[in-house]
Amino acid sequence: MSQETTAESVIRCEHVTRTYRGTGGARLVDRLRDDGERPATTAVEDVSLSVSRGEVVGIEGPSGSGKSTLLHLLAALDVPTHGTVSVCGADTADLSRRERTRLRLEDVGIVFQRFHLFPSLSARANVALPLVELGVPKRERREHAERLLDSVGLASRTTHTPRQLSGGEQQRVAVARALITEPSLLVADEPTGELDTATGDRILSLFTEAAARDTAIVLASHDRKALDIADKVITLRDGGRTDG
Ligand code: ADP
Ligand code: MG
Repeated sequence: MSQETTAESVIRCEHVTRTYRGTGGARLVDRLRDDGERPATTAVEDVSLSVSRGEVVGIEGPSGSGKSTLLHLLAALDVPTHGTVSVCGADTADLSRRERTRLRLEDVGIVFQRFHLFPSLSARANVALPLVELGVPKRERREHAERLLDSVGLASRTTHTPRQLSGGEQQRVAVARALITEPSLLVADEPTGELDTATGDRILSLFTEAAARDTAIVLASHDRKALDIADKVITLRDGGRTDG
């Protein structure tokens, strides 16, 4: 058990390693490659970390240091090769794929660098999407999505599609979608990387507000300002923590 672990932990990550298999493997796509064999890559190596309710943890490190891989593990999008990740008390490796999907839907909000919005859906429908999967009735979904869009300053954009929105507006839609289920955990991968300063600041205040409502937040970033909202910052180099 890590010393940082407390009963309040939303995430407990113990000695986690994630190795991506190299090419030259049995899959057809690997055998068809013409770039020769690639060795297996250990993207994250022996990382331990815990995150409490309402705590904001920043992850810094150069490109390729394992930030996105670690975030995928913490968000239960992926499972470790070694070690354990528990999210809200559930060891992610013990869950079936379907159970992990359910865990993400109910407990985890995810914000990607490039928004990942559905291009054919309005801002409101994008934000409401998790509620569709949770079986919330339509009128309630709409009202809730509109309230959230209002809170991120997009009340006048609810019926716009992503293409009709600026990058910063799209990212605010993505944040609203991640928060609509009031998740215990919000995971954000370079969420301000592509935004102007004012929009970046706005996204960061939404995160701070969510943390004040007890959401645990893990945020990978190169952006000093983003790391400044964190209660603690961990540093990755070649997949391992170097912050002691
Ligand atoms: P960061 O987000 O810090 O840039 P990543 O977690 O994306 O780092 O990548 C860490 C290492 O793992 C890099 O060497 C990268 O090339 C490798 N990697 C990431 N994803 C995959 C994958 N799906 N398959 C093989 N190697 C990967
Ligand atoms: Mg990354």
